[in-house]
Amino acid sequence: MNKVIALLIVFLISVLFLIEIKKNETINYIEKNIIMSQKPYHFLTKAQQFFDKAILCDNQKLRRKYLLISKGFLNTFDDNNIKSTIKIIDEILNTNLIDKEKINKFNNLINQTGISIYRKHLNNTDKLNELKNILNQNALYLEFVILCLILLLIIITFLYLNYQKIKDIYHLDSLTLAFNRNKFYEVINLLPKGKHSLIMLDIDHFKKINDTYGHDFGDMILQKTVEIIQDNIRKDDMVFRWGGEEFIILLKKTSKEDALKVAKKLKKAINRYDFEGIQITSSFGIKECKDTVTKDDLIIVDKALYEAKKKRNEIVCY
Ligand code: GH3
Ligand code: MG
Ligand code: MG
Repeated sequence: MNKVIALLIVFLISVLFLIEIKKNETINYIEKNIIMSQKPYHFLTKAQQFFDKAILCDNQKLRRKYLLISKGFLNTFDDNNIKSTIKIIDEILNTNLIDKEKINKFNNLINQTGISIYRKHLNNTDKLNELKNILNQNALYLEFVILCLILLLIIITFLYLNYQKIKDIYHLDSLTLAFNRNKFYEVINLLPKGKHSLIMLDIDHFKKINDTYGHDFGDMILQKTVEIIQDNIRKDDMVFRWGGEEFIILLKKTSKEDALKVAKKLKKAINRYDFEGIQITSSFGIKECKDTVTKDDLIIVDKALYEAKKKRNEIVCY
């Protein structure tokens, strides 16, 4: 689950970046268009400037050159007024005569076109700016939603991890950290079909140990015993504290012959262990379970242990 959430968060962060990139690309495009919409006005101003230069110029050659440049800028327009201004320039180029009438006519025509072009430009700019604002707002809204989603996923992960911790505590014996009975019933309900074995273990004369060496010493023996058991079983096998000094070991997919070998190994390991100066013995009951672990299996393994305890330091196998 954590992996899926981590992937989702990475995906959402990538989407965030993608939105930012696309937004910036579109805004750049819009801004380019705003600049482009200024171009006709700019060209018209240039045409006017070169026409004015031509009027003031005494040198014939240079005047023609200025007029041709002005015409070049005007040729970029498809406008009736501008066509008339080109005609005026052509007339001047052909006759070499500039009079006040032509100048005034040229200026009036340019002014009229300039005003309409400028209005168009303003209109365009307004629309493009409006578009830019809408784009910014939508991107911001989307980014906010994605950030909320990321936050939600982080909160879910946090709660899930805490839930797992609480679940672990609910399933563990606080003294020995072996699993408890709650976990046992949960595990046997989920066991795959097959041959499984149960070992029930009881420390011999434990009451006497408590009475002689104290309760804390008894606690230490319980903790060490669980460690010994865990060191001598497979990773998949599980130890449960059944009660006071009684434990159940669930050996998954294990026959009673193999369970007997494990019990012998455990008995030896516990017998040999030096519990801060003393040695202990323990008794074992074994029951092989067919397909799944039932209540009857528990009754029988308990019975096997009871029989083993009659002599103590024994193993009884069913
Ligand atoms: P047997 O050889 O027949 O098994 O006798 P026993 O003394 O081992 O067993 P009995 O059932 O008579 O006594 C078990 C004792 O375990 C009694 C109880 O005080 C003690 N005990 C139960 N839980 C704990 C614990 O958490 N810590 C300690 N130190 N002692 C505990
Ligand atoms: Mg005992
Ligand atoms: Mg007991």
